[in-house]
Amino acid sequence: MKKIAVLTSGGDAPGMNAAIRAVVRTGIAQGWQIFGVNHGYAGLISGEMQALGPRDVGGILQLGGTILGSARCPEFMTVEGRTKALQSLNKQGVDALVVIGGNGSQTGAYALSQIGFPVVGVASTIDNDLYGSDVTIGVDTALNIALEAIDRLKVTASSHQRAFIIEVMGRACGYLALMAGIAGGAEAIIIPEVDIDPEDLAQELRSAYERGKPHALVVVAEGASYNAQKLEQYFKEHRERLGFDLRVTILGHVQRGGAPGAYDRLLATRLGAAATDCLHAGEQGVLVGLISGKISATPLAQVVANKKYVDLDLLKLAHVLGL
Ligand code: ADP
Repeated sequence: MKKIAVLTSGGDAPGMNAAIRAVVRTGIAQGWQIFGVNHGYAGLISGEMQALGPRDVGGILQLGGTILGSARCPEFMTVEGRTKALQSLNKQGVDALVVIGGNGSQTGAYALSQIGFPVVGVASTIDNDLYGSDVTIGVDTALNIALEAIDRLKVTASSHQRAFIIEVMGRACGYLALMAGIAGGAEAIIIPEVDIDPEDLAQELRSAYERGKPHALVVVAEGASYNAQKLEQYFKEHRERLGFDLRVTILGHVQRGGAPGAYDRLLATRLGAAATDCLHAGEQGVLVGLISGKISATPLAQVVANKKYVDLDLLKLAHVLGL
């Protein structure tokens, strides 16, 4: 009987549990034994894993976060760390590993596959910065949470004729900010991919005020060179020029914790099942993701060597829509 281990790593994302459930149940349906590894690569190094049956993954489909726990594990970035991980996999007699996680986690998965261990990655990160999947597990839920906050802030902003700077997550990627900004009707969107002069932003806000807007929303990505904190600092001395009174809200981790929506549950379920399909077909060293609406497997070598770009035409569109 084949033994497959599954872990979740890096930033947690709503839908990770649905992916774990799909790996466990489709794997068991193949006649395999499935092990859950606790706390990502840290648990792999210390050998913290237990067999998971179909009932162990019952009632988790609708839960955010990950029942296996996640961790950032610097030790796995060293050859010694990965050698220890390999030893504990071999000690348990594990034949292959499924890694549910984002960019860093898949870089780790690639490193493990490079030393000969069969790995399949499942694309999961709210940042949507992973090459090999147009959209990753957790993005849709995180986007909807950000959007709900933006809608609420817009109501209060309009009542007091205020400008709000709203910071969303995304690490070095502007996808969440761009999409949340467009869907939330932001007057300006600041993303890491495009440098800005805060003076231009001040003038944009002033212009929105003079055009009679009841509010101005600026959605900014946490990874932008001018994030919420820096913009607030800059505008402290220029406040009267904006017209609007200014408030700043950093959404932070509230964007992570929600229950996965239908889209993420379905995506996670399909990708989890695709991971065991790959292993069944003898495919390894790949990432399963969604490309042009189809479940696709991309070699991890390509995943780690390429960067995913946001569509900058959408930023231009957002600018026009803020008229
Ligand atoms: P995410 O997967 O959400 O992008 P991180 O970037 O924090 O999260 O990565 C998660 C973990 O993946 C790290 O803590 C580390 O254990 C592993 N990892 C990241 N980069 C590498 C690397 N270059 N080589 C080996 N392992 C890595």
